[in-house]
Amino acid sequence: MDVVVKSYTSSVLTVTPPQFILLAGVKKNAPLAYNERNSMLFSWKEVRMRVQEHLKLSTAAAVVALPFLRQDTWLPYVASLGIDVDHYVWHAVTHRTLSLRQAVRYYGQADPPQIPQQRLLHHPFVLGALFFLAVRLRSRPLALLLGGLLFHVSLDIIHNSQMKRLKTTLSEQARGHCPQCGQPEPALQLHTVRVARNLLDRYNASHYVALCPTCHEEAHRQPANTTRPGPLVNWS
Ligand SMILES: [Zn+2]
Ligand SMILES: [Zn+2]
Repeated sequence: MDVVVKSYTSSVLTVTPPQFILLAGVKKNAPLAYNERNSMLFSWKEVRMRVQEHLKLSTAAAVVALPFLRQDTWLPYVASLGIDVDHYVWHAVTHRTLSLRQAVRYYGQADPPQIPQQRLLHHPFVLGALFFLAVRLRSRPLALLLGGLLFHVSLDIIHNSQMKRLKTTLSEQARGHCPQCGQPEPALQLHTVRVARNLLDRYNASHYVALCPTCHEEAHRQPANTTRPGPLVNWS
């Protein structure tokens, strides 16, 4: 099975394709998998977790906003959930394929190319232009749409800074050596050992480990390694 996952990265969001489509296509408890031919790391678990977080938080925000926005609540809600469609569109145009599976595989690479155009709807320039238009046209729908996009982007910023903090903390603890194999490695990668049950526990360091690229690939190749501590891994 060629599946996805990428959990080491501080930019997990870059693997999140259009939220609704993905949620519909992701099986519960789908295993981690490794695509030998394309050397890609793939784990639906991580992608699904990220999509569900956006869904939960956007829904919570929509419920809070409901008394104020009433029938217009769907606008920012849809914008917040649909913003990641920019990844899919960029892939579809540049790779000339409408395949969602191929797009997910592309972003699920161990080190996907980071191209600004992939995140067009997340870009400050586009958001700024929308703000300008909303003010200029005094358009309430446009302002609400922008609100939804900004909500999503804020969640991304918080997530990325938390993942970066975890990576720094765990790398410092490891002192430039992979805790699994003991080899010196200046650029350890963040790997998700287990998925937190609730959002408050999401960025607890005990759920992650910083591994060298080789051990990280191994962890994805053998899912058992991701749930059981190896002899050298400090799980606290
Ligand atoms: Zn290692
Ligand atoms: Zn990983």
